[in-house]
Amino acid sequence: MATIIPLTDARATGDAEARAALVRAAVQAPPVPGTPADLRGRPLSDLRISVTDRCNFRCVYCMPKDVFGRDYPFLAHSQLLTFEEITRVARVFAGLGVRKLRLTGGEPLLRRNVERLIEMLHGLGELDLTLTTNGALLARKARDLRAAGLSRVTVSLDSLDDATFRAMNDVDFPVARVLEGIEAAAVAGLMPLKINMVVKRGVNEDSIVPIARRFKGSGHVVRFIEYMDVGATNGWRMDDVVSARQIIDMIGAEMPLVPADPQYRGEVAQRWAYADGSGEIGVIASVTQAFCRDCTRARLSTEGKLYTCLFADHGFDLRELLRGDCDDEALRRAIAAIWRQREDHYSEVRTAATVRAPKVEMSYIGG
Ligand code: SAM
Ligand code: SF4
Ligand code: SF4
Repeated sequence: MATIIPLTDARATGDAEARAALVRAAVQAPPVPGTPADLRGRPLSDLRISVTDRCNFRCVYCMPKDVFGRDYPFLAHSQLLTFEEITRVARVFAGLGVRKLRLTGGEPLLRRNVERLIEMLHGLGELDLTLTTNGALLARKARDLRAAGLSRVTVSLDSLDDATFRAMNDVDFPVARVLEGIEAAAVAGLMPLKINMVVKRGVNEDSIVPIARRFKGSGHVVRFIEYMDVGATNGWRMDDVVSARQIIDMIGAEMPLVPADPQYRGEVAQRWAYADGSGEIGVIASVTQAFCRDCTRARLSTEGKLYTCLFADHGFDLRELLRGDCDDEALRRAIAAIWRQREDHYSEVRTAATVRAPKVEMSYIGG
């Protein structure tokens, strides 16, 4: 039987050949029954699929314009996984225990005929099928997305103040159009909506309370996200982070909050309910209170690389398997072996040195 090279070795050496060898060995190894847990006992229950690395926004914290300019080498169409390939991989992941699929990117609504992909994924059966979008195209597409089988949608919204919003997306996109998208999604039945706000100190912390106020009682759940050091281009500094604790204190001072229990293992957001019963908010404290212990998420990049952490600097090439002569059972073995040797816990060990280390961009891997 072929030897499986420990993922830790592949990671320590940054050796692409070692990673490829791991996948090749796993493909030939005998099947291991059951669903896989990683080296820290975490199951695989959530898959995020990036359907494009392109975006119509240039959010300052994600795709700064000076890096993602006219000459940026985005992937060519032939490099992207096809809808058939994505659906095949998703089916194999579902067989390994995944119950939640999230389409993301880049901006997923830019992928041509994404509704067709949603239909195909919906056809896989009992999966929670969601999508994260900047909302720019949502007003136009919400009804078709719902009809295709999308369960819910998460919309990113960093400010209600038009000038701040335009400055943050850096393409002068008006906030009113995103609000129309949110309305259209609610009318289409993509409820309850989640609304993601990334908070960057000195840029949009003034928008925290107005956003909370606006959606209190609406049935939508706003999630405030600590600004993260994803990728290598956003110039992240710890000083730019407004902590989840500070966010809760700011909102709670006007609208009292009480902590609420998580709904399931691996829930990313800490839940807080309004004391008057008018709904809830979430905070995603990925910097100040790491939640790696319960991280059950895998990420599939637009070109079919499997990443086991948002902060990874490398992925495992599944496209090569998909386009080779690998059957579903061999694909299953490869994915299970990659997951079994996972030991990622970046947010628990973040230091000034790790912040500067090379990492894959969030717009490529999918948020
Ligand atoms: N384009 C879509 C959107 O913006 O919703 C989907 C992809 S985007 C990468 C997914 C999520 O990641 C968004 O909610 C975005 O705000 C968040 N995000 C991007 N860069 C981030 C950063 N540096 N820190 C925290 N969240 C970030
Ligand atoms: Fe685009 Fe989303 Fe990144 Fe903003 S956060 S640049 S909308 S991918
Ligand atoms: Fe998961 Fe990596 Fe984030 Fe930890 S740092 S929660 S392992 S994605």
